[in-house]
Amino acid sequence: MGKKLMIAYDIQSSDSQKTSTQKLIAALCEERFPQALLIDGPKGIGKKKLAMQIMQALMCTHPEKRPCGNCFGCKLALTPGASENWLIPLTTEETNKKTAIEISSKSKAETRESITVSYIEKIFQNPYDINYLASGAIINVELIRSLNARFSLKENAVRCVIIPEAEKMNIQAANAFLKTLEEVPKNTYFILTTISRDLLLATIRSRCSAIRLEHLENDELKKEFFNATQKEISPDVLGFALGSLGRALFFDELEETLTPVALNMITDSFQKNFSNIILKLQDTFLKSQKDSAGLETILIFLDVLNFILTDITRYQTGVNLRMPIVSSKLPKEILEQMTPPLIQNALLKVQDTAKKIADKITSPQIALAALAIRLFDGER
Ligand SMILES: [Zn+2]
Repeated sequence: MGKKLMIAYDIQSSDSQKTSTQKLIAALCEERFPQALLIDGPKGIGKKKLAMQIMQALMCTHPEKRPCGNCFGCKLALTPGASENWLIPLTTEETNKKTAIEISSKSKAETRESITVSYIEKIFQNPYDINYLASGAIINVELIRSLNARFSLKENAVRCVIIPEAEKMNIQAANAFLKTLEEVPKNTYFILTTISRDLLLATIRSRCSAIRLEHLENDELKKEFFNATQKEISPDVLGFALGSLGRALFFDELEETLTPVALNMITDSFQKNFSNIILKLQDTFLKSQKDSAGLETILIFLDVLNFILTDITRYQTGVNLRMPIVSSKLPKEILEQMTPPLIQNALLKVQDTAKKIADKITSPQIALAALAIRLFDGER
């Protein structure tokens, strides 16, 4: 018997993420890849893209170079229709759809699998998309049960399941998944991605090998943004993105709509022109408050407010503005007269509003109107 050939693994990543990917490549080469991997890092930086490359590398059967792109395993990993490779968070309504086994094979009705495939297709189109799921999507225990059911069949080929946005697992699902993790079937790999490992059950965390994926550096982001859109990134989008291509792409689409309203909100609230700004907020956000795009848009809007308010402090202390174009459009009196306590208070109120909206404690419309009125109340 000759010496076993070393397999070369190729996983692409930007330079600032190289440290993490090198560790994974080493684990692949040494055949000690963890059966449960957790990739943790900010939204829109490429966690799913990395997970997809790992899945392909694990499923590839080429004797020397993986992923090869041609073998059955590679092709399966590259097929959005292979819904068994993914566990996608769904809304209750989506989860309650009949499964493919429950309907006749001739039926064209939507099934849980066909819905899952439509989300996987979105991920394949743009793995950086920070807004591809329906609002209220979660991983509930039913989804974990059908995941486990798939493993009852004995099979020798490598199986890999990507669980994106794993923080969306509710407590029952997490407990059920824990049992799966306690006895991961042979040749089976789970790759979880999450915006924060702290949002997962500690017992699940402790059963996964975790790696942190860093955001992109500005130069890398400029390049990636150009590759994705064939245009230069604007200074404000770059400043807003915080090294996340997903944030950059999402904000780029909304910049023209959101920044004038954010500017107005600060100016009108400061000058107590409340009816003006409340009307404007209604115009901008009324239609969109129900769907998920609307909710995510409102949260991005609050983030824009946050950045402009912080820019006022930066202006006053002579630091480079993060959103130089929009922030320098603020009236001089605001840039110069706004006091640090007033800015601090406003920032806290913006954060508080974002949390209430994200947690669905209040309707976004009411929360935004209340914020406009309270933004600069108190001592001036
Ligand atoms: Zn292959």
